[in-house]
Amino acid sequence: MKIYTKDLLNQYDQSLTYDDISLIPTEISRIKSRTEAKTNCEFLDLNLSLPVISSPMDTVTGIEMAKALTEQGCLGILNRFDSSLNEILTKETNGVRGVSIALNTSLDDVKKLAENGYIICIDTANANNNEVLKKTEEIKNACDVKIIVGNVAQGDSLSLLENSGADAVRVGIGGGSVCTTSIQTGIGIGQVSSILDVLSKRDEKKLKIKIIADGGIKSPGDIAKAIALGADVVMLGRMLAGTRETPGEVIKYADQLWKKYRGSASFGVKMRNEFIEGEETMVPYRGKVKNVIDEISDGLRSSMSYMNCVSLDELKSKDTFAVLSNSSYLERLPKK
Ligand code: IMP
Repeated sequence: MKIYTKDLLNQYDQSLTYDDISLIPTEISRIKSRTEAKTNCEFLDLNLSLPVISSPMDTVTGIEMAKALTEQGCLGILNRFDSSLNEILTKETNGVRGVSIALNTSLDDVKKLAENGYIICIDTANANNNEVLKKTEEIKNACDVKIIVGNVAQGDSLSLLENSGADAVRVGIGGGSVCTTSIQTGIGIGQVSSILDVLSKRDEKKLKIKIIADGGIKSPGDIAKAIALGADVVMLGRMLAGTRETPGEVIKYADQLWKKYRGSASFGVKMRNEFIEGEETMVPYRGKVKNVIDEISDGLRSSMSYMNCVSLDELKSKDTFAVLSNSSYLERLPKK
């Protein structure tokens, strides 16, 4: 079997995603217990204890989720549809550290957010757009604030984004679990190939912009893969949906508990007969978000222990991947 480096994976004939690859532990691990593996990282001047941020979707990140994630050492990005956004504008809200805005949010409002110390995420479907570059530049010229932009599927525009003032970019188009972009438009490549392309452009051009692997992450193992590929942090929608802290009611249906999860471009969010690029669904209720975060932390540290890594920087430097045949992928799944 061929062992793929990131460079080789990046040159693979086809576009790849998480289920197509696997990490290969090639070293004798020096780690005695997974508690020795440290998952902390620095992201946009924050010290995170886990490289996890929540998606600014209306069924994922409201105030309660943002606060709970801060408590867990992660970052929540409050969705731009949230009714408490006005309140957030006028004061610093304890525990909320990131906020998403629309392209048409006024500079005055952005200034207030910046003054209150929030990280800003310009929430658009396509960052490769002149309006996004202009908005980023306008904000950066007017305020001292960290800016996340998105999304991109490839790294060709990375210099432009960084030069306009973007500090981090969300990578992934078409990979979100409630995303219908690829079906509606034919756009998008696999998440692994997207991340590798963006990272190779960042290295090539010696840029500093942080890379957020956004969309399609289903498990702690996918998070370990994203970080090993070189992503700085992951952004999660579905993995956090269904927890107690997400906005929305718990629904009882067919003798089970559920919560609603929907795309930002779904009909339920837009409530207009506009072009729809997102689905609406129900996901099983999972209790406190802390349980999910603990599961991620355990999985990631265990992966680091297999891979002989005491830090995320060591994990990012790993260069031993396998491409799985479909049968070996299926073999990896537990059987009933
Ligand atoms: P998930 O973690 O696989 O559920 O993906 C979450 C990501 O999907 C978000 O962070 C967005 O990048 C993306 N997304 C959210 N809503 C939509 C939508 O309506 N259409 C397309 N992509 C979406």
